[in-house]
Amino acid sequence: MTTKTVELVMAPPAPHYVGDGFRVHNFIPGAYRLDMQRMSPFIMLDYNSKFYFPPADKPRGVDVHPHRGFETVTIAYKGRVAHHDSAGNSGIIGEGEVQWMTAASGILHKEYHEEAFSAAGGDFQMAQLWVNLPARHKMSPPKYQSITRDQIRRYPLPDDGGHIEIIAGNYEGITGAASTFTPVHLLNAHLKAEATAPFSFPEHYNTALLVVEGSIRINGREKVPTDNFALFDNDGEHFSITALENSVVLVLSGEPIAEPIAAHGPFVMNTRAELAQAFEDFHRGKFGRLS
Ligand code: MN
Repeated sequence: MTTKTVELVMAPPAPHYVGDGFRVHNFIPGAYRLDMQRMSPFIMLDYNSKFYFPPADKPRGVDVHPHRGFETVTIAYKGRVAHHDSAGNSGIIGEGEVQWMTAASGILHKEYHEEAFSAAGGDFQMAQLWVNLPARHKMSPPKYQSITRDQIRRYPLPDDGGHIEIIAGNYEGITGAASTFTPVHLLNAHLKAEATAPFSFPEHYNTALLVVEGSIRINGREKVPTDNFALFDNDGEHFSITALENSVVLVLSGEPIAEPIAAHGPFVMNTRAELAQAFEDFHRGKFGRLS
């Protein structure tokens, strides 16, 4: 059994605002060595650590903007987000729920605090991941997977140690509800204090975790506190996490997409020419309409 070792543990970088509703720490590409290729297929991770938003008359958020060439995955831990897109999809992402939006050939969307949440104010905590698409799927039609709490399958840990929620990929033979274009495992580990959970992913998959609540130790060694991110070396298959208190940990692992990345703002393509085309198509209104 070969152990996947920790390459680095990253404290949350200084936050910045996306629109006026998302106060995020950017872990990917962010600082250190986490450029888009290093963490492929995960090309972006913004994390809104738990933050109190006071009541507001007008919901905070991000107004209409485009995406092309990848998927956005929003995982809600606290608070509620309302989403609308130019493909006609809309929905509310509530606590414990996930929205998996495939922008692919192009979409316009807007993301706001849900109206009742916004009016009442409250703690808000979310992660947004961008998952890259391989060239053969970058211009596929957009789609939308709303993964509600009752669709998220759970693996109960032995000895009442908590449970693993499988969003995508699998854990101990249980497969998550989200369909993906390339192999991706996305899990929320809910561990009670002192519980340990084992994980196993291929050596070459890019693998990381984010401690959303509590604190953990990896492989009985590295301590990872709340809101910290740990990146694994590409050097083994197995690791374990042990909760030092009741903890929630987002675990991500995926097969790298071995293709060039040309990225600018909301577009992630393979070549500069495709990026230029994305801007041109956007300015010509080919991403549809959304007010
Ligand atoms: Mn967006």
